[in-house]
Amino acid sequence: MHIDMDAFFASVEQQVNPALRGKPVIIGGRNNKYRSIICAASYEAKARGIENAMPSWKALKICPDAIFVPADTTKYVYTSDQIFQILQNFCPQVEKFSVDEFFLDIDGCQGLFGSALDMGLAIKKKIKQRFGLTCTVGVAPSRITAKLAAKLHKPDGIAVLSKKEVLTLLTTLPVEKICGIGPRLKERFHYLGVYTCGDLVQYPNSLLKKQFGVVGLWLKAACLVEDISDIPFFADGKPKPKSVGHSQTLRYVSTDQDFIHDWFYLLSEMVAQRLRRQKLQGRTVYIYVADGFKGGHSKRKTFIEPTYDGYEIYQRCLEIIDIFPCKELLVRVLGVSVSNLEPANAIYLFDKDIKRERLIQSIDHINNKHGEWTVYPASLRCARY
Ligand SMILES: [Mg+2]
Repeated sequence: MHIDMDAFFASVEQQVNPALRGKPVIIGGRNNKYRSIICAASYEAKARGIENAMPSWKALKICPDAIFVPADTTKYVYTSDQIFQILQNFCPQVEKFSVDEFFLDIDGCQGLFGSALDMGLAIKKKIKQRFGLTCTVGVAPSRITAKLAAKLHKPDGIAVLSKKEVLTLLTTLPVEKICGIGPRLKERFHYLGVYTCGDLVQYPNSLLKKQFGVVGLWLKAACLVEDISDIPFFADGKPKPKSVGHSQTLRYVSTDQDFIHDWFYLLSEMVAQRLRRQKLQGRTVYIYVADGFKGGHSKRKTFIEPTYDGYEIYQRCLEIIDIFPCKELLVRVLGVSVSNLEPANAIYLFDKDIKRERLIQSIDHINNKHGEWTVYPASLRCARY
């Protein structure tokens, strides 16, 4: 059973603040409504053509009366944890797939709750009662097909599909509807004449493996509804990230080196915050710049000491910029990421490092309590545009 909360972030905000109910609500980053990316939208906003990952200025152009709400991760994570606990009362085998998606292995639970349909309806009712939130439930013989069943019945839906029904459905289903097939993989499949899941299962294993490696075979197995539970991707529901990164598209191409450096600092701080939240630190810093016309430049460098300090990551970015082939950067898109990750376990010997660590912890504490970017380095002029 797959449970997917409907327009989760926006719905949580609408429950918290009744004035937002029934209105187009968009959730974006930080506090600037004109310069962020849409990370969620209410169904009212989606109906007006607002999509996830759209720049907020564009969303506000399409739908000027949309209400912009800065994302409040603490609220969503808290609600998600509460939903997780509710689900554990229904079934001992619950896996958190993302902040708003859960998998339940309901084999053996039917005796308690009746059919899978009854159980799904009971879960929907409980979540609705407790939080006023709706979700969509998909039940099918495998994780990937349960997720698909939910996806096809959003919002506030429920679908229980047998293996035979799933196989029939898959014959004509476009490949990109399968979780894990993004735009690039889709294009490669189309190039090979594979448009539907039906086409995919007809494709010979040897060629699939040659083209896509084991992922190809895994996707085919998924379309045949074979047991793929030993696939590591799903093993603990929370795959460890290989890198943590952020990128930004500026509204204009800029040659102002101070402005560009400020942006590198801001992105470094954002990456650092995410690293700390996931209790990770990394040694390799990668930066990317592009002017939006001629493709970009990227460079990475591995350092001896791992870090999760935004200022340190920024200093490393500056070191990398120094070895760029071009002296003057012409920038429209820029990105920073940190890889070579390991669990954070900072032990400091020197006073200045201990002080720095205390400062970072205090800033995180304030921002976690009062919202992201309540406190940030004063030199981040561009953070407030
Ligand atoms: Mg969802």
